[in-house]
Amino acid sequence: MAEFNRVAPSALRLYEIDGARAHEEVVDQIVFAIRRGLLQKGDRLPTIEELAEATTVSKPVVGEAVRVLREHGVVASKRGVKGGVTVITDDVPMKLLTSRGWRKAALTELVEARRHIETMLSLLAAERATEEDLGDMRKTVELLEAAALRPDSSFLRFDHRFHYQIGRAARSEMLAFFQHRILSAIAVALHEYGLFHEDRDQVVETHKKLLAAIESRDPDQIRKATDHHFSTSAGSFASIGQLTSDGGTD
Ligand SMILES: [Zn+2]
Repeated sequence: MAEFNRVAPSALRLYEIDGARAHEEVVDQIVFAIRRGLLQKGDRLPTIEELAEATTVSKPVVGEAVRVLREHGVVASKRGVKGGVTVITDDVPMKLLTSRGWRKAALTELVEARRHIETMLSLLAAERATEEDLGDMRKTVELLEAAALRPDSSFLRFDHRFHYQIGRAARSEMLAFFQHRILSAIAVALHEYGLFHEDRDQVVETHKKLLAAIESRDPDQIRKATDHHFSTSAGSFASIGQLTSDGGTD
């Protein structure tokens, strides 16, 4: 008789599930909608009932999600006939980005996954982007360039917005969702390490190149531009990757 093989839990690469935190999944879905521009400043959210039905959680769970979003200054609630929950900023605070949903990955692993997904999304965007999509991206690169001179968080926000716009232009829901989760996890990790040194002029330059490549709709140019974007950002993460793969913090 064959011997049974008992597989160790660690071999299955399991990740933690916190069943009491379903509201965080609701928060993340709304954060994703805001970050990719489906919800904009001034928009009213669906009702609690509608959100509960669409996400198959209870109304109190949705209520808890709205409370968290309100506490972080993302939405405001108004009572009465004209009431409801309104989005008051598209600048989602770092604290609401999540690295949940999988085991904790090393930053190098996240950066590698991001690079492949973003390359695919850029290639798809080159095939599928409308003039409107490209116009939105041009506007964001202009905002990024202007933000390079300001010492606040708007620079990172416009950098991310540009990548979400590529995700939207690619018209691939599933890849765009993975992109969102990976970008969030990277932002959380970098925040934990307090790593925000970057050469802003170079960042602006790499985004201009990536935009021009997508506009050219030429796959070779896109591969070159994404390689360039990710070799420069991966370079700045190199020392951090060292830290995690040595088992220091992971
Ligand atoms: Zn970027």
